[in-house]
Amino acid sequence: MNLIKRLGAIVGPSQVLTDPVDLDPILTDWRGRYHGKALAAVRPASTEEVAAIVRLARETGTVIVPQGGNTGMCAAATPLSGRPSIVVKLDRMKRIRAVSSLGDSIAVDAGCVLAEVQAEAAKAGRLFPLSLGAEGSCQIGGNLSTNAGGTAALRYGVMRDLTLGLEVVLPDGRVLDLMTGLRKDSAGYDLKHWFIGAEGTLGIITGAVLKLFPRMAGRAVALAKLGSIGDVLSFLALARAEVGDRIGAFEVMNREQVAVIAEKMPQVAIPFALDADWFVLIELGDTVADGLPALMERLLERAFDAVLLSDALVAASEAQAQAFWKIRHSVSESSKAAGYVVSHDSAVPLAGQGRFVTEVEARVKALRPDARVVMHGHIGDGNIHILAIIPPVADADERFRQVDVINAIVDEVTRDLRGTISAEHGIGYANIGRLARVTDPVEIDMMRMLKHTLDPDNLLNPGKIFT
Ligand SMILES: Cc1cc2nc3c(=O)[nH]c(=O)nc-3n(C[C@H](O)[C@H](O)[C@H](O)COP(=O)(O)OP(=O)(O)OC[C@H]3O[C@@H](n4cnc5c(N)ncnc54)[C@H](O)[C@@H]3O)c2cc1C
Repeated sequence: MNLIKRLGAIVGPSQVLTDPVDLDPILTDWRGRYHGKALAAVRPASTEEVAAIVRLARETGTVIVPQGGNTGMCAAATPLSGRPSIVVKLDRMKRIRAVSSLGDSIAVDAGCVLAEVQAEAAKAGRLFPLSLGAEGSCQIGGNLSTNAGGTAALRYGVMRDLTLGLEVVLPDGRVLDLMTGLRKDSAGYDLKHWFIGAEGTLGIITGAVLKLFPRMAGRAVALAKLGSIGDVLSFLALARAEVGDRIGAFEVMNREQVAVIAEKMPQVAIPFALDADWFVLIELGDTVADGLPALMERLLERAFDAVLLSDALVAASEAQAQAFWKIRHSVSESSKAAGYVVSHDSAVPLAGQGRFVTEVEARVKALRPDARVVMHGHIGDGNIHILAIIPPVADADERFRQVDVINAIVDEVTRDLRGTISAEHGIGYANIGRLARVTDPVEIDMMRMLKHTLDPDNLLNPGKIFT
C-alpha cells in the first residue's frame, strides 16, 4: 500500500489532502515568501492518530512538518527540506479536555485556536492571558512551539510561563504524557521545556495544561505621546512605581509605524495627530474595577509633571479602548502592505533599549535612506520589533543580499547588548543563518545534541532552527 493510502487508513481518506488547490495555502508561509513541497497534508483527530502517523513516517523515512494556524513569522511551518514530506495539521484536534476553577487550569488539545481557549476560560470566570494579533487563527500547539509572547507578557509572562503540562508525540512514535498539571514538581528534569519553543523539531505537541488567572473586572486604556525612547522607559518605570502589577500592557509604536497604519489601513481610526516621535498604549487592569480610571488619571498627571508626556488620550468607553487596541493590532497587516518588510524580533536588556533603537535606526537609515524604519513592541519586556520596509526587489539573490546587510546591523547591535534575535517568533527557516551570529556556540551545540538524541533520523521539521 502506498503512503497516501496508509495515511488514509489512519485518519480517513478525506483527511489526507493532496489536491494542489487545498495544499497551496498550507505550503505557503504567512508572509507569502516561501512555498514548500509536500506529498500530502494530514489532519489527525486524536493523539493516537498522530502517533500512528509518526510511526508510519519513521518506517518510510518521511519528513513531518507540524502545522497549527500557519501564522508564524519565520516560515517554520513550511515544508522546505526538499525531502519527501507530509504536513501534519492539528486543526481537527480542538477538544477542551477539562477546566479547573479550583486549580486555575485548563487542559486542551493542541489544535485549539487561542481565541477559543480565551473564551472557554472566560466562560469559567477566569482569564487565559496570552493575547496577540493572530489570536483568531493561531493554535495552542503553535503558540507553545514558538514560545509566543504577545501583549500581556509583561504581566503574565510568555507561553513557557503559562504552561503546567504537555502531551507530546515523540519522533519514535511514543506518547510522552506530562499532563499532571502540577504547579510544583521537582522530580528530575522538567522535560516540557524542551518542547516549548522547539518549533516542531523535537516532537508533535498534542495537548497542554495551561494556567488560568483571575478575570479582570475592568480596564483603563490610554494612548500617550512621548518625545524619545528614554522618556518611554522613564514612563514605564514611573507606571511600575505608581500602579505595580496593574500594568496589563505597555505597547510602544514609533511615529513612522502609526503613519504606515494610517496610510495602508484607512479603516483604522487614528484619533490623534502624528506630532510625536513615540506613542504608548498603556492598559491597567484589576480584579476590582473601582478606582482604575482615577489611577490612570493620577499616573498620567505624574507623567505630565515629570515632563515625560506631551499629550494623552484616555479611552472613555470599552468601544474606544477596543479602537485603541485596533491600532496596535494593525501593525503587521499594514507593514506587510507597505513594501518588502525586513522584520526583527530582538530583545535586549531594558538598560540597553535606548541604544539599541537609536543605533539600529541610524545605521539602517545611513545604509538605506529609502527604507522606512517602523518600530512597535512590548517594550516593557525588552522586545521591540524593528522593521525596515524597503521597495520590492525582483531578483531573489539581490533581495537576499540587501536583507542580510540590514540583518547584520541588527544582529551586531543585539550581540553587543547581550540580547537575542528572537524574543517570541522563533528562528524557523527565515532566520537560520542569523542564530550563530548572536548565540553562544556551546548553547547551539547543546541544542544540536538534544535534537540528535530525540530525532536521530532528522524527520521532525528538519532544516528549521539550524541546518
Ligand atoms: C498578525 C500577527 C500578529 C502576531 N503577533 C504576535 C505577538 O504579538 N507575539 C508573538 O509571540 N507572536 C506573534 N505572532 C506570531 C506567532 O508566532 C504566531 O501567531 C503563533 O504563535 C503561531 O501559532 P500557529 O498556530 O499559527 O503556528 P504555525 O505558524 O502553524 O507554526 C509555528 C511553529 O510551530 C510548529 N507547530 C505548530 N503546531 C505544532 C504542534 N502542535 N506541535 C509541534 N509543533 C507545532 C510549527 O512546525 C512551526 O515550527 C503574530 C502573527 C501574526 C500573523
